[in-house]
Amino acid sequence: MLRAMSDPIARRIRELPPYLFADIDRQKQRARAAGADLIDLGIGDPDLPTPPHIVSALREAAGKAACHRYPAYQGMRSFRQAAARFMEMRFGIRLDADREIVALIGSKEGIAHLPLALVDPGDEVLCPDPGYPVYATGTRFAGGVVRPLLLRRDAGFIPELPSRGAKLLWINYPNNPTAATATLDFYRRVAQWARATGTVVASDLAYSEMVFEGDPPPSFLQVGGDVGVEFHSLSKTFNMTGWRIGWACGRADVVGALGRVKTNVDSGQFEAIQQAAVAALEGDHACVAEMRRTYRERRDALCDGLSRLGYDVIRPSATFYVLCACPPACSSIEFASRLLERAHVVGTPAVGFGAGGEGFVRFALTQPIERIRQAVERIAAL
Ligand SMILES: *Cc1c(COP(=O)(O)O)cnc(C)c1O
Repeated sequence: MLRAMSDPIARRIRELPPYLFADIDRQKQRARAAGADLIDLGIGDPDLPTPPHIVSALREAAGKAACHRYPAYQGMRSFRQAAARFMEMRFGIRLDADREIVALIGSKEGIAHLPLALVDPGDEVLCPDPGYPVYATGTRFAGGVVRPLLLRRDAGFIPELPSRGAKLLWINYPNNPTAATATLDFYRRVAQWARATGTVVASDLAYSEMVFEGDPPPSFLQVGGDVGVEFHSLSKTFNMTGWRIGWACGRADVVGALGRVKTNVDSGQFEAIQQAAVAALEGDHACVAEMRRTYRERRDALCDGLSRLGYDVIRPSATFYVLCACPPACSSIEFASRLLERAHVVGTPAVGFGAGGEGFVRFALTQPIERIRQAVERIAAL
């Protein structure tokens, strides 16, 4: 006889926060099914292909039998050395490729796993709000407690450091979803605070190369190498989101502990992809300059267009995100929903990144400029 089974799903899954984009996703599906031509500025995934010299490097490496076996857990030495050279060339930071760098299957993988290396049940983790959702989810999966750190527009989306420390603090500049950037001076204050409170700092630098104006973004490790680790990704810099490759670097004990988590849950990234990543890091970076030009033009088209229509847009100097304030008495979800229904333009309600995102919709500059201009025209007709 069959017995009714009680819900087998673990609390950590059942208690995940509700997926705030479910309604928007349904609306999108409905509009597409009705034949609408949606302009999707919702997703932070580059629309442009990976540069050809990187694809060629993968093609060549994929044919080598040496790449077909289990990779080294911590990543190929050649990849870690290329990452070390990048850190030195770009930020002037010297790292030991053997002890202070570990390869990741995309930086999201390392971001999600870091709490398993550092956080005991009940430990607190400070997560920016609004912020990349993985900081909070990874914390909860490890049994940790999320303490939101509010990013306010009037403070440039730079948080106030609380008087009480935590096990871990996440920072992310250039920032998703606000596009805010941070100064080395802010990092100095964070490092000092971390030393005083005994907090480990984890910096997510996924957008380090995606800048249009001003100084190139600094690394937290320039001033906080003794208290922090940093996550780097090839995804946005080289249009490689589908490839899944990045690295964590910094404090040897923390990098080592993250590596120990990984030796127990995965077996590293395909070595052909690591070799292609070396080609990306060490090759001609003209493709990166080109990528910056492309996003700057798109940014100008969207920001100038929306400003002319009277919208309050925050013009970014980095990342490929643009925050637009909702009209008065209109919530983040209502505004996104109205844009979708009436203009067939998809933006992301920023409240999906935390309560601190209420009042904004996030547009990603991941469509060709003609489509962005068309989106502005449609919004003008509202
Ligand atoms: C895109 C993104 C990443 C990069 O993720 P990968 O796993 O390396 O593709 C990391 N952090 C933030 C905030 C991002 O937006």
